[in-house]
Amino acid sequence: MSFILSCPNCGPRAVDEYAYGGEVTERARTSGDERALFHYLYFRTNTGGDQREWWFHSSGCREWFQAERNTTRNEVLQVARPGELAPSREPAGG
Ligand SMILES: [Zn+2]
Repeated sequence: MSFILSCPNCGPRAVDEYAYGGEVTERARTSGDERALFHYLYFRTNTGGDQREWWFHSSGCREWFQAERNTTRNEVLQVARPGELAPSREPAGG
């Protein structure tokens, strides 16, 4: 499925110009907690609703950025450089 994704540096482009980098996850904080590390490495929520994702503009500026996208409607809600996304409008799964 094709859609338009707007790079923070280059502007709107077809999604074919990007590589998907997966969900934005929270890194495991403690080194001794194997369960938390295992969860961080192998589990994804695969949300049906608003989800924060990593994208790489592989055919453009070659920069990583984050997008918030509704996976049900395939609608891009916002894009930003890493760490600059505004708070979500809806709770995940909505
Ligand atoms: Zn770009």
